[in-house]
Amino acid sequence: MTTSGWVHGKPTPITWELAMQKAPIPRMSNIGVLALQGDFLEHILVLRHLGVDPVEVRKPEQLEALAGLIIPGGESTTMANLMDAFELRGAIQQRARQAMAIWGSCAGMILLAKHLVDERPMPLGLMAMTVSRNAYGRQLESFETDLDIPALQGKPFHAVFIRAPKFVGLGKNVEIVAELPNGEAVAARQGKLLATSFHPELTNDFRFHQYFLEIVHGTV
Ligand code: GLN
Repeated sequence: MTTSGWVHGKPTPITWELAMQKAPIPRMSNIGVLALQGDFLEHILVLRHLGVDPVEVRKPEQLEALAGLIIPGGESTTMANLMDAFELRGAIQQRARQAMAIWGSCAGMILLAKHLVDERPMPLGLMAMTVSRNAYGRQLESFETDLDIPALQGKPFHAVFIRAPKFVGLGKNVEIVAELPNGEAVAARQGKLLATSFHPELTNDFRFHQYFLEIVHGTV
């Protein structure tokens, strides 16, 4: 059984069975996942595996107690529309100003950006970067590759890119966390804000989620 079928024709490796079998008893609920659209369930399963019981965020008041929020991959225009319909935009921006950590993967990265090359959607404007949507091409140009990521210990990280956005400009406070062999940034961080153009939630390697939890706790 797979939890989602939308990953360019391939089954998602994270399954409820795996997560429930291996998950330790959850011990934390100050991490949320924006659960309006996209692959929020995959992020939730990985977090459960790491012993975190995340909040599925759909209401502004749920953000109040959070130390960290993940904005998942999906369709950024739809997610932005829903974010406005659920009155979450201002609330997320306010919590970010109060130093809540936020990680945006793919569509989430688009929403975190200060500027987009594209006309839509209107991003949250939080992270000092310019992003271009679908910049690696359409669905058929989706690809997977192994990346050496200095912030993660051990073997290369298998990165899945699906209609991925590109960083086309990074502010001076933004550090590159991962890049392709050609030197193009594919993950970046500005303080407690983290953006990845790929989808760590679609693999069975949980090191990137662990890294985000360390950002939340201020240990990296
Ligand atoms: N291309 C999508 C967008 O622009 C993002 C794709 C993804 O999250 N996998 O919203």
